[in-house]
Amino acid sequence: MKACIVSIGNELLSGQTVDTNAAWLSGKLFELGIATTGSWVVPDEQPRILAAIRQASQEGDLILVTGGLGPTDDDLSRQAVAVYWGVPLEFQPELLVQISDFFEKRGKKMASNNRSQAYIPAGSAVLDNPVGTAPGFWACKDNIFLAAMPGVPAEMKRMFTDQVIPRITRLTEGPTVVSGKLRCFGAGESDIAQKLGDLMKRGRNPLINCTCGSGEILLHIIAAAEDKKTAQAMIQKDKALLRECLGGWAYGEDDQTLAAVVGRLLKTRHKTIALAESCTGGLLSQMLTDVPGASDYVRAGWVTYSNEAKTSQLGVPEAVITDFGAVSEPVARIMAQQAAQKCDADVAVAITGIAGPSGGTDEKPVGLVYIAVAIDGDCEVKEYRFPPANRHWIRLRSALTALNLVRLRLAV
Ligand code: AMP
Ligand code: MG
Repeated sequence: MKACIVSIGNELLSGQTVDTNAAWLSGKLFELGIATTGSWVVPDEQPRILAAIRQASQEGDLILVTGGLGPTDDDLSRQAVAVYWGVPLEFQPELLVQISDFFEKRGKKMASNNRSQAYIPAGSAVLDNPVGTAPGFWACKDNIFLAAMPGVPAEMKRMFTDQVIPRITRLTEGPTVVSGKLRCFGAGESDIAQKLGDLMKRGRNPLINCTCGSGEILLHIIAAAEDKKTAQAMIQKDKALLRECLGGWAYGEDDQTLAAVVGRLLKTRHKTIALAESCTGGLLSQMLTDVPGASDYVRAGWVTYSNEAKTSQLGVPEAVITDFGAVSEPVARIMAQQAAQKCDADVAVAITGIAGPSGGTDEKPVGLVYIAVAIDGDCEVKEYRFPPANRHWIRLRSALTALNLVRLRLAV
């Protein structure tokens, strides 16, 4: 099966909104073993939408359309797809009930133009939208399947995951390609390639590909087999093999984040955590609290950006800052110890560093970061000299490295 994506919206062509839907969808299709062979971005104009869908139908057997399902005059996907299929738009009374219920539950009255969203091309199946008003639809013409979904990324993702993937899966039974991911941290791409040796040989099945970013290495495992179950078993076997090879470098699988892995370790070890951040400005706290259920183990966090705050909030003696500098081993250590003590946490992490672009010296260059991890009173501080790529990258790398340090210490 080959897929094509049509993203609709003037905002996507004016640079106002980045077409993240196409990137997300092609990633999901890749995981399902379906190649995306083309992607179109078109304005809110019916002839342009229709032309893109017709072109897509020359190239793929699955067309995914996002956007243009809103209630306003510039939402024209319903009309364009109806013309493509050669069918009229049909009023669905039960959709109107669902849409007006959606407003009622939020204490609002439905506007009259939302009524247009209860029309879908005749003969198509409704794709429910539990998180918004725009329903999607799905049908097949001349062996080409088409799903029309809302443009709002959260609505589209939910609809695709819950309602489109099961439909695609039914279509792709038989010989198939399945992929999985193994996530690593703490080693470079070449270290990993060296460790894996022949496992990364081209032509191997499963094929193992490697990508990197922000210190994280992602291994894609792609298995081809006569059916999905066999391919999935091959992936599982390779994941175990790779984990054995890579030891502590491998931290998770598929969409697991480092923060989620750390969260699970904290929870199973019955430990709580406190954060004291300077150059990361709360990024580490955000990563940890992005994980649902984080209130089970996250106690508190401090963003002590200034020297005064390090002193007044976390009790770092002024003399220590004067003698060693705010970016130093002793300051990181005291920040972690104090954070743990102030909120009675078992684990504390402190980060202090120079994110740049200014503020670096020969002795303390941009990219110098100290990370302290205290567990049950035992505090270890590590110095890092990250490449001075850019501010965002240094902050991200610092927060991820801190999470990785906690993971490695809790894992033993
Ligand atoms: P629509 O379904 O066309 O009304 O889109 C609603 C909103 O979703 C737009 O205003 C955009 O902010 C967002 N959106 C639409 N298409 C995309 C896309 N391809 N990628 C990311 N965001 C999008
Ligand atoms: Mg739109």
